[in-house]
Amino acid sequence: MAECKMCGGVGLVRVMTDEGAWASRACECQETQKEERRLKAAEIPERYRHCSLDSYDPHYTGADAALGRALLTARRFVEDYPVNTGGIGLLFVGSIGVGKTHLAVGVLKRLVAERGARGLFVDYRELLKSIQNSYNAQVHVTELELLRPVFAAEVLVIDDLGAQKPNEWVWDTVALILNSRYNDKLTTILTTNYQNLPAGGGAGSEVERAAREQTLGDRIGDRMCSRLQEMCQIVEMTGKDFRQSVKRARFG
Ligand code: ADP
Repeated sequence: MAECKMCGGVGLVRVMTDEGAWASRACECQETQKEERRLKAAEIPERYRHCSLDSYDPHYTGADAALGRALLTARRFVEDYPVNTGGIGLLFVGSIGVGKTHLAVGVLKRLVAERGARGLFVDYRELLKSIQNSYNAQVHVTELELLRPVFAAEVLVIDDLGAQKPNEWVWDTVALILNSRYNDKLTTILTTNYQNLPAGGGAGSEVERAAREQTLGDRIGDRMCSRLQEMCQIVEMTGKDFRQSVKRARFG
């Protein structure tokens, strides 16, 4: 990091008080450094580090009006945090490539940088994989050690909820995480490609339901799907895959 021009790296600057006496106060660079440390601790993967609310374009060719509304909701959420959000998080729901992770990271970065929140980003599938791996005797990290930061983060982003093929253990683990955060009234922001519906897609005959695409209820269980409705504001995002649309526009 370049040495600060104001304090020369000492971290303190001399200022004249109202009474005309000299005093020392913390240099502005100290705040910037703290902000950088908090952002680093949030473990946002390299491929999403460029994401911000300001760089989200809700008007690309193929974008629906829902994307403009999603951006507005994300901006309002940041303004309202923490007093007016009261522990309620966001669940970004929609097809691949509409920018769900982009907005989740955009919100996380703003809360960490501007509100001093202790935040953490986790990929759902990777988290489950490392927990499973911790049962291996050769791995010297316990399940609790892995989960402690996930339980404790003031703002947690869980990316790609439901991406792991479900089984009893997956459901129990998701329930453990979500219930812990719900009980502690901590803010959780999630993204998912699955429809925000109970298992089997709700109404219809058994055959109709079986033929439908899998829903969030199918992937994480109906109980946790229903818990999320209490824990989060639901943000539906529809539109074409941004990467496909932008690439097509670029190459004609
Ligand atoms: P999703 O989570 O919905 O599958 P991502 O957030 O991973 O989509 O987006 C894929 C890539 O496209 C990312 O690099 C993201 O920054 C970019 N992207 C998606 N939508 C937008 C948008 N509306 N404006 C700018 N970049 C976008």
